[in-house]
Amino acid sequence: MRILIAELKQESNTFAPLTTIEDFKGFHLLFGNEVIEKLQGTNSEIAGFLNVLEAKNYDAIPIMAAFAVSGGPLNDETYEFLTSQLYAGIHSAGKIDGVLLALHGAMVSVSEFDADGAIIEKVREIVGADVPIMVTMDLHANITKRKIQNATTISGFRTCPHIDLIETGERAARMLCGILDGTSNPTMAWQKVPMVTPACKQIDFKPGPYRDLLQETIFLDTLGAIDSSAFTVQPWLDIPELGYGAIVITENNPSLARELTNRLAQKMWELRSDLVDTTLLSASSGIEKALKNPLGPVVLSDLADGTGAGSPGDSSTVLAALIQANPSQRCLVSVCDPEVALLAASIGVGGDISTKIGALRSYAFSNPTHITGTILRSGIEHFKFTQKGYNGMRVEMGLCAVLAIGEIRVLVTSLPAFTTDPAFYRCVDLEPTTAQIVIVKSHAQFQDSYDAIASEIIFLDTPGMSSDNIAQLPLTRIDRPLFPWDRDMVFDSGAVR
Ligand SMILES: [Zn+2]
Repeated sequence: MRILIAELKQESNTFAPLTTIEDFKGFHLLFGNEVIEKLQGTNSEIAGFLNVLEAKNYDAIPIMAAFAVSGGPLNDETYEFLTSQLYAGIHSAGKIDGVLLALHGAMVSVSEFDADGAIIEKVREIVGADVPIMVTMDLHANITKRKIQNATTISGFRTCPHIDLIETGERAARMLCGILDGTSNPTMAWQKVPMVTPACKQIDFKPGPYRDLLQETIFLDTLGAIDSSAFTVQPWLDIPELGYGAIVITENNPSLARELTNRLAQKMWELRSDLVDTTLLSASSGIEKALKNPLGPVVLSDLADGTGAGSPGDSSTVLAALIQANPSQRCLVSVCDPEVALLAASIGVGGDISTKIGALRSYAFSNPTHITGTILRSGIEHFKFTQKGYNGMRVEMGLCAVLAIGEIRVLVTSLPAFTTDPAFYRCVDLEPTTAQIVIVKSHAQFQDSYDAIASEIIFLDTPGMSSDNIAQLPLTRIDRPLFPWDRDMVFDSGAVR
């Protein structure tokens, strides 16, 4: 058996600056055998595909693997280049028996709101109606009719933060092998649920409604599902068909698939009020509250500038509020600003710096802040993740500087690095455990590592392109009614299909 494998993944935030081919090159952009050489054994869906295909002695035909971190929609040139490489690779692969495709599910290009749907549709057109196409997606995928109509099955992650990439790839590959062996006939049902919820509640490592929802997908396996996924989408997508999606796959039993899909959709709808129940404080209120906490480190999340959600990490709104508060205790904050990092390098360690900082890319949402401080450190920096699922992964921060403004320490980076791991500050000798306030720019993932350190976590309501104050997002293309914009709307999962 000859199985095509490919990956093309990026999570789009339609408010963020456009994503280019350089953003893919900055993470990975692999073709042909490089895909297997570089990704086998890693925490990726491709590694999961390979595990199953190798065990079956089926041939994996690698086309490409392209991944960029979250950001704005792909510019047309990048989207055209990547998809044409994928389609040309499939055309030249000769006769094939199946396709395993790792997509994100919430990728948007300038000209295509449903980029993943368009890709699956085109792959279907090339391989024909009889070749199974099994697709894996991030659980933040936006499920659409176009995706469903052209995929044989769609399997999503069941963890958040996502650590089950290999397992998801293996589930999809096992279903494909079942079809090719003639021992299985997967039947898939799906349902959209008209709701969108904030990202900061989308965690499964603590008790709560989101964990309840993900555990329901696993529980459905005991009721006869061979796969099920809760696609909970992220809110920064101004596109039609936005909303939660439920998918259940059964063994040759369409009516059971529909019944279990209705059950999962109903569970989503029942949890909607709990899933949007978040408290966001203004930067000044959050700082005031944190400075009064006698128990030490309080983590404030400037999630509207979340670098894992496509924001550039360059807002200085919280820094400005910290300067205003003039704290007597140590406070750690970061701003991505390559111009300030360069200026600090030219002045040198020990020198004084007076400049404006921030809002180079997020100027539509925030303003730069004028600062005067002392340069404590300057140089090219990186850290390695200590968090599970990403452990050991190297994160480049580019040319950096550490500035002192009274007790405030500003980590200036040139690249919009992930701030979720305490190693982000530790790599420049700033210690979160001895600070009173630690600012991160993340919705979910930081909670995993900072829970052990923080006496309190406060989510901020700051302006930005990944705000969790979703009612304030400038969404104009979404289909209505949609919860929570239409709070009193009625939805009956059983009546939909
Ligand atoms: Zn995700």
